[in-house]
Amino acid sequence: MNQSEYDTFRDRLFSRIWRELDPLETQIEDEERLPLETLIPTLREMGAFGLLVPEEYGGLGLTIEQYLPVIAEFAKVQGGIRVLVHVHNSFAHALSEIGSPEQRAAILPGAADGRHSIAFALTEPEHGTGADLGSTAHRDGDEYVLTGRKWLITNSDIASHFIVFARTSATEVSAFVVERDRPGFTITPLPETMGCKGGEHGELVFDGVRIPAANRIGAEGQGQEHLERALEISRVFIAASSLGTAQRALDLSLAHARQRVTFGKPIAHRQAVQRYLAEMATDVYALRHMLLDAARKWDAGQRIPLEASLCKLFGLEAVGRVTDRALLVHGGIGYTRRTPIERLYRDARLNWLEEGPPTIQYLVAARELVAGHDWADAFAGTGHA
Ligand SMILES: Cc1cc2nc3c(=O)[nH]c(=O)nc-3n(C[C@H](O)[C@H](O)[C@H](O)COP(=O)(O)OP(=O)(O)OC[C@H]3O[C@@H](n4cnc5c(N)ncnc54)[C@H](O)[C@@H]3O)c2cc1C
Repeated sequence: MNQSEYDTFRDRLFSRIWRELDPLETQIEDEERLPLETLIPTLREMGAFGLLVPEEYGGLGLTIEQYLPVIAEFAKVQGGIRVLVHVHNSFAHALSEIGSPEQRAAILPGAADGRHSIAFALTEPEHGTGADLGSTAHRDGDEYVLTGRKWLITNSDIASHFIVFARTSATEVSAFVVERDRPGFTITPLPETMGCKGGEHGELVFDGVRIPAANRIGAEGQGQEHLERALEISRVFIAASSLGTAQRALDLSLAHARQRVTFGKPIAHRQAVQRYLAEMATDVYALRHMLLDAARKWDAGQRIPLEASLCKLFGLEAVGRVTDRALLVHGGIGYTRRTPIERLYRDARLNWLEEGPPTIQYLVAARELVAGHDWADAFAGTGHA
């Protein structure tokens, strides 16, 4: 999409987000469910399902630099909607990169217009991720037999296809596309979440589920590689979600600080409040530019494991600090549901967990740094340790 087409698309989409999705906040927070009957058709009309699906499959094929402001805008309104849009787009994008031509042709046109939705099934109740996975897939002729449990799997209520990671040997992990209606595959909801309310993050049980070998993504044993590629860019999407939430909290805090008067002056004129605002803006500004750097590098064809983990880490810490300070600027009224501050505060905490908690980001970042990282930017030079 060229720049002027993108500008037009973006303006229209953003105005629909505020006109049609923002007003759903109270209903979703009260009922703790997304009104899928009306929400899905609205998102389909908005083009929200095909944002990252390549144009050849009927999607919009946005670049990462074009996509980040969009997912950030979704994060400013009710978080459950942002999570639905994020998971769908992130893993449709992953499939467009790691799926076989047949898998792409079968699934992506439906993903582009919202008839299909792709979920990502990695986390398990009784095991860690990667080589520690407990789910197994045994080859049996032209099929695999999949056994195991996953939980906390977003969009488990709407997904037509799940990208499932399972061990194919004692040391190797492989990735598979599993259709929702396979015999032996059951899905049950988990309890509601603290924030980003309304989405479904269910438990999946695979009880000897037979899937064709053609559903394997890439070669046997390549699952860890696919996992890292899919999560790498998805961590940048989570950081952009942190930015959207933080930016909204800052904007609301500025508006409140200008109009709330104590002892005859708006609190924006008090040095203590000015410090909160400046600290919030510092986090927002830094995150905006980290994200742009990561997006431009990815769009130029570079792998960005370090930048992605640093964006995700800084993003979760930044949005944590910004929503803390937003609550302080708002005073007691911010703790009530009369302002969106309380919701943004809860929504932000999910960004800590999605696409891996801080410990995994430390691990990836340190691994890349110790191996020797080329920052590849204007500051890169020939310095000595
Ligand atoms: C609302 C929601 C939606 C989600 N959606 C999805 C989804 O769509 N797909 C999906 O696959 N997952 C999803 N998740 C799961 C999420 O990615 C995990 O919760 C997260 O990665 C943490 O894993 P865990 O819950 O197994 O925690 P654990 O692994 O049990 O971690 C608990 C604590 O121990 C630490 N820890 C664990 N192992 C180690 C180690 N080896 N070294 C050091 N510290 C360690 C962790 O950092 C953490 O602090 C979702 C979670 C939530 C809450």
